[in-house]
Amino acid sequence: MTLRNSDGWVQVRGAREHNLKNIDVDIPRDSLVVFTGVSGSGKSSLAFGTLYAEAQRRYFESVAPYARRLLNQVGAPDVGEISGLPPAVALQQRRGAPSSRSSVGTITTLSNLLRMLYSRAGTYPPGVEHLSAEAFSPNTVAGACPRCHGLGIVHDVTEDLLVPDTSLSIREGAIAAWPGAWQGANLRSIVTGLGIDIEEPWRSLSRADRDWLLYTEEQPSVLVKPERDRVDFGYYGKFWSARKHVMNVLSQSQSQRMRDRALRFVQSMSCPDCAGSGLQPDARSVTFADLTIAEMNAVPLADLAVRLRLGMQTPSASGGAAPQESNEVAQRIGTDVIARVEVLLDLGLGYLSLGRNSTTLSPGESQRLRIATQLRSGLFGVIYVLDEPSAGLHPADAQPLLDVLDRLKASGNSLFVVEHDLDVIRRADWVVDVGPGAGEGGGQLVYSGPVDGLRAVTESITGQYLFPSAAAATREIRTPDSWLRLSGASLHNLRDVSVDFPLGVLTAVTGVSGSGKSTLVTQVLATVVRQHLGTTPDDSDEAELHVEVDDAAGVESFDRLVLVDQRPIGRTPRSNLATYTGMFDVVRKLFAATDESKARGYSASRFSFNVVGGRCETCQGEGFVSVELLFLPGTYAPCHTCHGARYNAETLEVNYRGESIAAVLKMTVDAAATFFADVPSASRSLETLRDVGLGYLRLGQPATELSGGEAQRIKLATELQRAHRGHALFLLDEPTSGLHPSDVRLLLEQLQRLVDAGNTVVLVEHDQAAITASDWVIDLGPSGGDAGGQVVAVGTPHSIATGTGATAVHLAAWLA
Ligand code: ADP
Ligand code: ADP
Ligand code: ZN
Ligand code: ZN
Repeated sequence: MTLRNSDGWVQVRGAREHNLKNIDVDIPRDSLVVFTGVSGSGKSSLAFGTLYAEAQRRYFESVAPYARRLLNQVGAPDVGEISGLPPAVALQQRRGAPSSRSSVGTITTLSNLLRMLYSRAGTYPPGVEHLSAEAFSPNTVAGACPRCHGLGIVHDVTEDLLVPDTSLSIREGAIAAWPGAWQGANLRSIVTGLGIDIEEPWRSLSRADRDWLLYTEEQPSVLVKPERDRVDFGYYGKFWSARKHVMNVLSQSQSQRMRDRALRFVQSMSCPDCAGSGLQPDARSVTFADLTIAEMNAVPLADLAVRLRLGMQTPSASGGAAPQESNEVAQRIGTDVIARVEVLLDLGLGYLSLGRNSTTLSPGESQRLRIATQLRSGLFGVIYVLDEPSAGLHPADAQPLLDVLDRLKASGNSLFVVEHDLDVIRRADWVVDVGPGAGEGGGQLVYSGPVDGLRAVTESITGQYLFPSAAAATREIRTPDSWLRLSGASLHNLRDVSVDFPLGVLTAVTGVSGSGKSTLVTQVLATVVRQHLGTTPDDSDEAELHVEVDDAAGVESFDRLVLVDQRPIGRTPRSNLATYTGMFDVVRKLFAATDESKARGYSASRFSFNVVGGRCETCQGEGFVSVELLFLPGTYAPCHTCHGARYNAETLEVNYRGESIAAVLKMTVDAAATFFADVPSASRSLETLRDVGLGYLRLGQPATELSGGEAQRIKLATELQRAHRGHALFLLDEPTSGLHPSDVRLLLEQLQRLVDAGNTVVLVEHDQAAITASDWVIDLGPSGGDAGGQVVAVGTPHSIATGTGATAVHLAAWLA
């Protein structure tokens, strides 16, 4: 290696994290550097696992020397040396569930400014004292609505749920929410003691009695004569209304089973006192530009900017503060808010509102919010490490994102970006290509230098896609057998939309961010088909969608719905690839069938790390224990008893073909496919995982470590391994996100296989390769949010490309 002046370079020596093979690389600072390579090649291990982790470690050491011992326990990245490394900020796509109290406003910190604006420059109605900024936040004691404690939703019982069958009498169990057995009998005796007839059908009781039984807070004590004379003396029993009983169980019971039962009787609804805003009454009376803060939180950001400008022009008739002062404040804060909102508009997020809950944002949307927030932080000389910032973006939206990244660079920062998008890669100052393959087949530095240099590196899979040598083979377009005709569909920004989906082919639904693609496919279409099939969503969070549809002719063609989304395959490290696909059951049976297990009397459950018996009890089978760091987020360290093996020593003594159960969990799918080649039930799962490009994953890789794209491909593989009969509808929301172009190709081959087998596949997509591989395109638009929600074009990819919309222009360029 030539000697380089180390100024302006981050120099990495001996990086060995995960699959990295002791690599040395010099990376320029103050540049846009893109880390490329197939999925599992080691890009993230280098960018996040090594560079970012080391920068973090140094930072913690400098601010909290006492944390050193604990940090050592957690482990520093496995790297020889890194020089020239500035502090780093990671804008990673979050894996795992964000908190339900965060919103677009809190992520961007715009909520704070807006509260200040309302506090200082709002219009106060007569009689309302000036409020502090905190009083405009539902998350503070001063601001929270007393009824819902700032949540904006209340959980309450309803008569329908408490009494599902009104023809029953109380004795027959009309009040389903009441406890059964002895306690229930007790309550019936009390009710009798109170003079209410427990033999009458529920619906014949008076309204007053019914309401009292269900909702009263009163708890009279009644001398009870037991129903059956098993005891010969009376006793005092206390009455519990159905609501009081349910609420008591929910707030007091330790038993999950009891709590789950009680939850069946409550419904969550928008808080009637604060109309769902979570704010106390005074805060809801103050306005700016004629809107309350709750209303301001609900308008799309594009309108918010307009409103604020308006409010700054009209002097407020503010009660307390002098108008002069409050106008100056309005000018200052308003200008600041508008400048920040404009960055969000630039990034194509004008359709979001400040109040939008972060749990409903796509990963790409939340990452862009955090990028926009960083722009204003005024930091310079830091490295921003980003994870696929183009994910979820229509090519039309990717351009403004790149402009924002350029602005971060121009203010003196370095951008290290893990990315698959070829347009983004072409824009980079420098490319670090890792690979050439995945897992053990990767981990080497294939190339480091300016983009053009990659053309000459034949070994680089990325290079082959950046600089294709031959035109892609043309494909026969399928013609649909029949159609599913949806009419009058409304949800979110879709209003009375009619759209026809062709059956038995591959369809791509396209359009700029926020145009309504996910709403149409994963919500409207999924709900309609589910209703026809009489099934419920796997995830109960989604149960309450108010989808309106006039008609869905042709829906009867489907006998199954498969939604293959990017949600995690499990929320704890206890679920993993092997448990999710069901392959682990097979493996445990193999271990239980060995002579050694039979001699010891070990059954298959002995080889589960989730139950007592075979697992390590120190970590209860997790392999990790959590380490509490003062002031720092909690983190995990390997268990000191089993050193991450998850099992106790006796269990590990049992070998199958010379390997322990822990060793099997450490195998990659590729290695396991060889190991279990002659076990058909295991090898079928393993082969389908390899088919979707996941051969590099380890069987025991916890669900929490997997990316959304990996989780999605695991779900797809699990579906592929099932024997299919009949006609299923497969819905996929951006299956190519997080995938290298070569992995996109593998994925598309599998989807084509599903269609060839007679199924219908509908994708929400931005990827040009995926769109051109489709038989039919449904393009939504023309813009995001309220300016979208319409079908702007339908047809084959080639016919769409002749149009004039955003999708057409990019598709035409790709097909050219
Ligand atoms: P990429 O970012 O290129 O998709 P990664 O850096 O995430 O690849 O992964 C590279 C290799 O390291 C893969 O074989 C992956 O399974 C493995 N790996 C990733 N995370 C971990 C981890 N936390 N522990 C052990 N191995 C890991
Ligand atoms: P796309 O998939 O094309 O990016 P979406 O279907 O996610 O678009 O969003 C379409 C519109 O519906 C946007 O204005 C978005 O803000 C709104 N929207 C999406 N999900 C929700 C939700 N859970 N609650 C409220 N509005 C939503
Ligand atoms: Zn409330
Ligand atoms: Zn342990």
